[in-house]
Amino acid sequence: MTTATADWTTRLAGLRPPAGLHIDGRSVAAATGRTFPCISPRDGRVVAEVAEGGAEDVDRAVASARSAFQDGRWARRSPRERRETLLRLADLIEEHREELALLESVDMGKPISDSLAVDLRVTLQTFRFYAEAIDKLYGEVAPTAEDQLATITREPVGVVGAVVPWNFPLMMAAWKLAPALAVGNSVVLKPAEQSPLTALRLAELAAEAGLPPGVLNVVPGFGPTAGAALGRHPDVDALGFTGSGEVGRAFLIYAGESNMKKVMLECGGKSPQIVLPDAPDLDRVADAIVSGIYFNQGEACSAGSRLLVHDDIKDQVLERVVERSEQWHPGDPLDPSTRIGAVVEQRHLQRVLEYVAVGQAEGASLITGGRRAREETGGFYVEPTVFDAVRPEMRIAQEEIFGPVLSVLTFRTLEEAIDIANATSYGLAAAVWTTDVSAAHRTARDLRAGTVWINCFDASDITVPFGGSGESGYGRDKSLHAVDNYTHRKTTWLHIGA
Ligand code: NAD
Repeated sequence: MTTATADWTTRLAGLRPPAGLHIDGRSVAAATGRTFPCISPRDGRVVAEVAEGGAEDVDRAVASARSAFQDGRWARRSPRERRETLLRLADLIEEHREELALLESVDMGKPISDSLAVDLRVTLQTFRFYAEAIDKLYGEVAPTAEDQLATITREPVGVVGAVVPWNFPLMMAAWKLAPALAVGNSVVLKPAEQSPLTALRLAELAAEAGLPPGVLNVVPGFGPTAGAALGRHPDVDALGFTGSGEVGRAFLIYAGESNMKKVMLECGGKSPQIVLPDAPDLDRVADAIVSGIYFNQGEACSAGSRLLVHDDIKDQVLERVVERSEQWHPGDPLDPSTRIGAVVEQRHLQRVLEYVAVGQAEGASLITGGRRAREETGGFYVEPTVFDAVRPEMRIAQEEIFGPVLSVLTFRTLEEAIDIANATSYGLAAAVWTTDVSAAHRTARDLRAGTVWINCFDASDITVPFGGSGESGYGRDKSLHAVDNYTHRKTTWLHIGA
């Protein structure tokens, strides 16, 4: 154990995580009085007991959000005032970044160094980006006839529901909250039951920053109860969801069966990394393949879970990938040198290991990893795993495993590579490695994916939209395009003829 690990562990012992629902600016108990344990995947221990929100609590939160929206306490503030409040919130997040990073790592198992370098950094950028953007967005005047004036303005939709997953709890919440709040909406956020702590702390910081009561409510609870209640609520105007395809489908049904609320979905992927024979620098390619699948324990919707490598260079690439995989030892999330932490929960550990068994049963060749690690800690760790000889129709090439498991497939022609890459139900992200500019552009054009990386993987910036096609969903997080999710365009006609 390094000294720094001991420091984090000591701080953890002194931490009092938030435990109530956050409704109408206050921390309150669930209507039923029920709580649920937050189990840390780091060691299987309970870190907090959190109020378990249900339908009645969602009703209370939506009513609070609605009345905040109706009386204009936030929506009718000038964009500049909203900007100042959100910038204050960003400053508070920065001030508390280590506490938030610690809560995140303990709650869902990611390395503390990633929590700080990725989740907290991006969360801060996100709040600052939308805060800064909001007083710089203009409406339009349409080129109508002389005697008419038609303006096109953006209006907040009203009450926004946000249902987020456990893999980047704070960051995903920020991607939805920051644009929704910046344009004047009120929000009810339901964090995943595996990872509610940072969302609750964020709500406290938002109140401290001066966000009026009711504008941001947080209701932790389970999907089929709290999540479904939000999805079905007749007074929620728009809902942003990130998570599994199965639940994404449920939100479409909820919307259809309730008030036709606007739904934005981000439902995962099975991202291919295509390596052509003229790929530049195979060491760099191997580094990107390995971090592309093992970052965040493979629990990333854009994880590069399929390596499509040309037959001629397969051995050279695979040798490098395996050598590097064996250097990604799962470790204590609170050790700053750890690169791969614990998967989110016992059930998910079982799920990932079941996929390993499925791959073997399907005839793929397990060449490294595939087992539980660090079992003596009581935590949920999986070895970085590589399957060779995977065929496109196998389940491990089709389904989102959401763990550190790489499937390696080969091809002979670029057309074949593109066909294999596109032959899943997903369309979130993809990468191609080549020095041939035409091949790179042709591949980027032909891949079904919301994002294509050429000679890089996972490049990301708040200025760039992120989202998918196919069963990866629709709507875009990040960038100014995300504002579309949380606004309507209104046209207003004025007759100005004599
Ligand atoms: P999930 O889709 O079940 O959960 C995501 C969110 O939806 C959580 O807040 C959850 O409480 C809520 N939810 C669950 N069931 C619901 C329901 N019936 N109605 C309304 N809300 C509901 O994801 P999971 O079970 O945590 O993970 C399962 C798989 O989903 C993963 O292994 C992975 O393949 C995928 N996943 C994808 C992402 C992503 O970023 N796209 C994130 C998490 C999980």
